This record gives sequence, C-alpha cells and structure tokens, in this order.
Amino acid sequence: MRDRVDDDLRALLEDAAAAPESADRNVTLLGEFYRSGMDTGTIDREGLSGLSDLLATIDAIDSRSGLANATIVLLEQGFGPVYYYWAGVNPENSTVMVPALYQGGLGLPDRDYYLRNDTESIEIQDAYREHIARVLVLAGESSKEAAADARTIYAMEEGLAAAHLTQEENRDPQKTTNIYSLAELEERYPAVGWETLAAIPGSGPVSRVHVYQPGYVEGLDSLLKTAPLEDWKVYLRYRLIDQASPYFDASFEEEHFAFYETTLYGVPEMKPRWQRVVAAESELLGDLVGQAYVAEYVDPRTRGMVSGMFLAIRGTCDERIANLTWMGDSTKAAAREKLAAMGEKIAYPDQWPDYSGLNLSGSYVANVRAAKAHSFIHGPEGLEKIGGPVDRGVWFIPPQTVNAYYDPTGNEMVFPAAVLQPPIFDPDADPALNYAALGWLIGHEMTHGFDDQGRQYDKDGNLKDWWTEGDAANFNDRMALLVAEYNAFEALPGLYVNGNLTLGENIADFGGLTMAYHAWKKTENGSADPAADRRFFLAAPRLWRVNDREDSLRTLVRTDPHSPEKFRVNGVLFNIPEFYEAIPEIQPGDALYRDVEERPVIW
Ligand SMILES: [Zn+2]
Repeated sequence: MRDRVDDDLRALLEDAAAAPESADRNVTLLGEFYRSGMDTGTIDREGLSGLSDLLATIDAIDSRSGLANATIVLLEQGFGPVYYYWAGVNPENSTVMVPALYQGGLGLPDRDYYLRNDTESIEIQDAYREHIARVLVLAGESSKEAAADARTIYAMEEGLAAAHLTQEENRDPQKTTNIYSLAELEERYPAVGWETLAAIPGSGPVSRVHVYQPGYVEGLDSLLKTAPLEDWKVYLRYRLIDQASPYFDASFEEEHFAFYETTLYGVPEMKPRWQRVVAAESELLGDLVGQAYVAEYVDPRTRGMVSGMFLAIRGTCDERIANLTWMGDSTKAAAREKLAAMGEKIAYPDQWPDYSGLNLSGSYVANVRAAKAHSFIHGPEGLEKIGGPVDRGVWFIPPQTVNAYYDPTGNEMVFPAAVLQPPIFDPDADPALNYAALGWLIGHEMTHGFDDQGRQYDKDGNLKDWWTEGDAANFNDRMALLVAEYNAFEALPGLYVNGNLTLGENIADFGGLTMAYHAWKKTENGSADPAADRRFFLAAPRLWRVNDREDSLRTLVRTDPHSPEKFRVNGVLFNIPEFYEAIPEIQPGDALYRDVEERPVIW
C-alpha cells in the first residue's frame, strides 16, 4: 500500500516539477521542493553550506545563556537537539492549547540502548560511535579528532539517556501529565532558557507548559549547567549535521542510511532517489502534498461507506459495554457516554492549512529547513496555536499516510485516505473482507479509548478518573492475562515480546476484531450464511501480512508499542470464541489452542 501511495505521489510531484510557473501557488511549491530534492548536482556543490549560519551560531557559544539560546535557534529550524517542543492539548483542560515538552537528545532509538550491556547491545553502541566518527570525518575532521569527539558526544547522550523515562513509564498518563507555570520552570530548571522559548517569534502566549518528563528536564538542566561548553558545542554540531544528513550529498546520506536503516533494521539497499524525495516531501509538506493527493486519488464513495462502518461498530461496542458482566452500572454509563461522544474523521480534512507564508528556493537543504521552520509555527502542532482554543478540525497525520490513530485528548479517531484502499478497504469487495480488515482497524482505534491509557481520559478528553475502584480492579485483573499471553511470544530465539510495553495495542487489537466481527454479523452479509464466518476469520489475518527482517524485528520488539504482526494475529484470534466455531479443525492440544480460562474477556 505504501509503495502504491509513493507511485501516486511521484506522478503528482513530477507533474508539478515539470510546470515551474503554475497558476496555483501550492503546485509551484510542490514542484520547487521536488526539483530541489532531485537536483543532486546542486546538492553536491553546496556541501554543508546550507547549514553555515547554524554552525556559526554553535561556534559562537561562549556562555551558558548562549548555549540555551543556541539550542532554541536549532529547535526553531526543526532540528530540536535536546527535546521536542510543540503545541498540544492541555490534558487537564482539553479546550486549550499549551506548549508540550518531551524528552529527546538521543541518536539511538531509546534510552535502554545506552544502558544495556549484553554483547549485542555493546555491538550497536560501538557501531553507533563509529557512525558518529564517520559523519564527523565527512564534515572535515581528522579521524583522530573525530574519534575523540565521538566519545564526547556519546558520553553526552549517555548522560541524557540516564534522565529519560523508560518507554513503559511513558505510557502512564498520570506520570507524564505535569503542568507547570513558566515561573515555576524558570525557578526549578533555569538553564533551559524558558523565557527565550516562550518568546519564539510566532508562538502564542505561554503561561503554562506541559512537561512530559520533569526528571529529564532536571537532568538536562544539570548538564546544561555543568558539562563543558566545548563538549556541548561538539555535541550540538554533530546533532545538527546528523539530522540534516539525509538531505546532503550521497556520502552523508549513505552513512546515515548505513547506520539507521542497515544496522538497526537490516535494510540492504536504499530506495531510489525519487522515492526518498517523495517521502521527505510528504513528511515535511504533509498537507500540501495531501491536498493534491486527495483531489486525484480518493474514491467518492469512501467517506460515506467508512462512516457507515464506524457507526455500526460503535453501535456494537455500545451493546457490548451494556452487557459486560465485570463492570458496574455507573462505570458503564460513563463508558457509553464517552463512546457516544467519540468522533471520527475520514479520508481527508475539511479545511486545508495555509502555506502562503512558505517560500522555497533551488536549494534542497534550504527547502527542508524552510518547511520545518514553517511547520514548527504553522503546522498541525505549530506554536502559533499556543494559548488559543483547541481546533477540532486539525489532523495530526496527512491523508497520504497508510496508518490511523485515536487521540485520547480529542476523543476521536482519524482514518487517512491512504489507509482506505485495498486490501484494507475496497468499496467493491465482499463486506466480510472490509469488516475483517478495515473493521478491525476501526474497532482497534475505538478500543484505544478504553485501553489501559485511554480509559483514564473522560468523554471530553480530560485526564479524569470515571471508574469505580472495583471496576478498575476488575479491568486490571483482565489485563494480567493479556500481559502474560504476550510475554510468552518469542519473536526471535531468546527475544520475547514485552507484554507491558505492548499492552495498550494488544487490548485494542483484541477489542477491535471482536467489535468488527459482531458488527459484521448484524449486516445482511454477515447474518445470511453461517459458513461466512470462516471467510471472515480467514480474511482478518491479511491485515498484518508483513515480512520482517531479523534486525528490524529485534529493534521493533525493543521500541515499538505494537506487537510484531504475527502476534497481532495469533494473540487475538485464539482468544475469540467464535473463531473456534468458525474453524472447528482447531482442537485442544493444537499448538496455538488456548483453554477457555486463559482467554480474557475485556471489551
Ligand atoms: Zn493502536
């Protein structure tokens, strides 16, 4: 599906690039970006010159306040070196936008990559230090200097990693919802430069900040105060060059690929140039590309049909909640209210963001920077939204994305056009297939509103407990069965799925297919023929037909809150009673057969 979207986008962008003077300014922008990305002659000639102003800013750091300011200059250009910062919904008052700050600063996928000391982790750490040194040599350092700097940079990242929360801790909204006033932050963590952050041109007025990980900010503050300025300069220079490497000449791009794709994910070769530029443009100019994509490629029947499926599945979910035996009446009433308030966005946004302030040129790096800087202020999570009301029309991923999400603070789910395609959805297909695939996804996103994280938000998206103590305890008991089930899945010899890290997704997978099945059974297609159940359950696993390379699987098991695809199928189907009825040849004693008492009943 992703390849098909890339082909579609390529056609659009090549057309735009071939028409330099379009009457439509958006088309001109699309063409300019694509042409600059394909112009490897100019990219080779420019070298690092497209970053010279930022490199000079780093070189000029001569004080602690200068250091904080430089980190913020880089942040504004889309190269946030030590944390992520954007406008988000205040989880304690879901009608207003506040700035949000999230831990960052690492070049490896997660803190544990720095802290583990098994042989394989040490190999990755060594490979990473070598990668850093090679990037620095490409940037002009001697190999001796580069090796020394690589040690400095790695040590700096290790210090930041030690202050990071773990991925499992980051799944706990109680732990990650910390709202501070600007004055409190100035007082507690002065080295970060809050006043400068709040005064970024284009930002809305900042009074309170949502800090996901106060412990990280404390660690960062301490490093900003104590680590030698020269070490910071070495670190910032590397972080900038490494993040911009995919947009430089082939030597930088290949080095970036060798570590981030080959070492970590086992990818043997780069995609062709056009596909890399399409991916960059689609990411950096998301809605601009999306608007052109939607005009060309969306089937007019899609929105209505998918909305019908959403309503059918929501109706089924409501009935199932009403009939749950483990939940009391008051919690049920609140759950059903939340479900009734749950919104859906299908295919594409009704309003498109304005790109009139964006100016592009013939330089790829300059265009990447312009797009990042524009989105930092004006994008879906841009700082201009801070202090204002929440705009329910905003999409956080563009329509050409093959994915979907549930947003707990908005209590809504979003299904971009690109995911509403065969084999997940086809307006002309057997409804059993559409329910088994897209229906599973819709049920999955819906269940996120009631997984171990989502259940902590109320119908308006506020982090507010609406459960009785007894019902919460019942829910947690049911979770334990699911955690144990997934902990036992062995992805590679000796490497097991983390049942706690993947819990929310596993709850959503299980609830999702259950809802989709029962909603489909109420349709004419599902009720007419008992033999159709077999068709449904054989179709469902097609949603997760994926081949993973070993390195990729290893990295995903350590970092991805989703279970590997094979277990997204096996973990779910063998918990569903109707699956055993539909496929009676599966019997007790078979390898994946689960006894009735091992099968949790959740949603
Ligand atoms: Zn999910």
